[in-house]
Amino acid sequence: MLSLLTITAVLALASTTTALPASQCRCTDPTAACWPNAAEWNRLNATVGGKLIAVTPPAASCHEGDAGDAACADEIHNQFDSAWRINQPGAMQNMNWESPNPLQTCLPTANATTPCFQGAVPVLAVNATSASDVQAAIVFAGEYNLRLSVRSTGHDYQGRSTAVGSLLVWVRHMDVPVVHDEKFVPEGCSGEGVTAVTAGPGTSNVELVQANGAAGVAVGTGAGTTVSVSGGLITSGGHSPLSRKLGLATQNVLELEVVTADGKLLIANRCQNQDLFWALRGGGGGTFGVVTRTTLRTYPSLPVATTLLQLVPPTAAALDAFFNDWVEAQASLAASGWAGYFYIGLNFMAVAYLNPGAESAEAANATFAPVWAAIEKHGMNSHGFPGVFSGTRWFPTYQDWYSVVIGPPSASPGAHVSSRLFDASLLENNASAVASTLLAVRPSNGNPVIGHLVGAGAIGSEFAAEETSLNPAWRTSPLHVVVTNSWED
Ligand SMILES: Cc1cc2nc3c(=O)[nH]c(=O)nc-3n(C[C@H](O)[C@H](O)[C@H](O)COP(=O)(O)OP(=O)(O)OC[C@H]3O[C@@H](n4cnc5c(N)ncnc54)[C@H](O)[C@@H]3O)c2cc1C
Repeated sequence: MLSLLTITAVLALASTTTALPASQCRCTDPTAACWPNAAEWNRLNATVGGKLIAVTPPAASCHEGDAGDAACADEIHNQFDSAWRINQPGAMQNMNWESPNPLQTCLPTANATTPCFQGAVPVLAVNATSASDVQAAIVFAGEYNLRLSVRSTGHDYQGRSTAVGSLLVWVRHMDVPVVHDEKFVPEGCSGEGVTAVTAGPGTSNVELVQANGAAGVAVGTGAGTTVSVSGGLITSGGHSPLSRKLGLATQNVLELEVVTADGKLLIANRCQNQDLFWALRGGGGGTFGVVTRTTLRTYPSLPVATTLLQLVPPTAAALDAFFNDWVEAQASLAASGWAGYFYIGLNFMAVAYLNPGAESAEAANATFAPVWAAIEKHGMNSHGFPGVFSGTRWFPTYQDWYSVVIGPPSASPGAHVSSRLFDASLLENNASAVASTLLAVRPSNGNPVIGHLVGAGAIGSEFAAEETSLNPAWRTSPLHVVVTNSWED
């Protein structure tokens, strides 16, 4: 995919002159005088042990005469496979971010005569496998006034992990999670320590769940299997199926290793670089540095009861009436330990709820009674999730639950997303208004509004004393709602 030939072609664009003063705009044009020359790129390549790679749009192999070859067939076959995309340095999960100009795209196509534009795909990447690779890339970008992009998996909803004319720090391959045998004491701290797992920034949620599950422990990171634990997720909160029970991912961070913009490698925890530790836990991806290692507190694995439903209403009015009762039930479901996800579309509803720590399906089911009553009252037809099951089941561990219930997400040609947190007081005192609002904002293209019952709970109680830069509304808002619309072009 990334041949030496391609790197040489990019390097050949380089001029012989060097950097502009840092006060000027970033150098983003490989043909401009400010762009590093071949010898300078070679120096970076030598520093990072040959891990400087040329980056092409993921569908480049389908253009310019190559359509029909094996690489193009592979691309067309895998283009919506999220797990495939996280391993392509040029790929974003929402493909629109690769091509900001809709007239200059590089789409998977069988028509080899259409040109392939680089778009917002970075020009070159350091395929980092160590913190020193990350340092070298950051220092080099600073030296030559280059635009730097930082990517672990490319899930960013706003496209912030890719940029026109940039040098990418790609951390997907810094990914081995290690569950500690001994209790972990953050560097520079004292005390007994706690059970913990350390992950590189390429570790995805599913990889962490598997490593933890094998060791009989759990921590809530995210539901999305292919999202990185240590990139945008922990730096912006990290809600999960367990967050109401075990806190947001970022509230469980014990220590971060981070490379800052001056190229320094720092340890941030409650005993050193506390301001950075505070800022990184909520301040957002790519803002205060590149995280190269994350250590999270773990807990003994816990059982999970779960209820999965696909609901088809007899009429549109019945769906609206059922949904009103569903939202009315959220405060009591949350108080009974339920969490999870619901999807309300124009003519269907789906539910994937779980009750972490429940001792049995029956015990959990008893507290789901208001929903069963509403299903009957409004004549909703209840079907199973295709390929999974319908109704309530119990799993002995979180990992067992995760491996059955959470499937891989699909990548999307283009989506823009907005979200809101709904305070507990709204669910308790004004649920009907919340329900009618969510029904009103359903996109007309049929995309469901997605409700995440993942906030408040332990986030605002057991973990309230954790000092982080998180949006404080997470502490009091059980419901996080996401509306996704297609990209219009
Ligand atoms: C299908 C899907 C499922 C999702 N599921 C969940 C979920 O269950 N829970 C949840 O909380 N969120 C979820 N999200 C949102 C997700 O957490 C954010 O989009 C997050 O920013 C993705 O982080 P990433 O590092 O994997 O992606 P990237 O696109 O690689 O990076 C996102 C941002 O973080 C920066 N960044 C990447 N790596 C690093 C690093 N090592 N150090 C510093 N900055 C870095 C990037 O520059 C960018 O600004 C989901 C998103 C999608 C698309």
